[in-house]
Amino acid sequence: MCIFCKIAKGELPSNKVLEDDEFMAFHDINPIAPVHILIIPKVHVENFQSASSELMAKMTPFIQRVAKELCLDQTGYRLIANNGKDGGQEVPHLHFHLLGGARLKWTHLAKDDTHKSL
Ligand code: AMP
Repeated sequence: MCIFCKIAKGELPSNKVLEDDEFMAFHDINPIAPVHILIIPKVHVENFQSASSELMAKMTPFIQRVAKELCLDQTGYRLIANNGKDGGQEVPHLHFHLLGGARLKWTHLAKDDTHKSL
């Protein structure tokens, strides 16, 4: 079972922000922005490329709800789905990075800057 499946099942701890029957939002363990949340479906889906439109139709309002709960809908945010090897995806379970709390710089998305603070 993958690490995010274990988090979804409560077998691994997480710093949870929001949860419903199908989705979960929790703080990234290695944040690269003042607010760095990961949003996952509880069902195992490998990445964005293999996500169905039905899943995304339900996931989109959940992501918007998370942004609203954290007041990021007021200040703005960046939403990222790393997909596959070249996308820099490390965990093979669909997740969106919700980044905010600062004026984010686009240049820091370069590969070598992955773990620098934004
Ligand atoms: P990605 O490179 O898009 O696959 O991102 C994976 C993210 O998961 C990274 O930002 C990690 O810091 C984060 N991560 C890995 N393990 C955990 C964990 N146990 N709890 C929270 N975040 C995690």
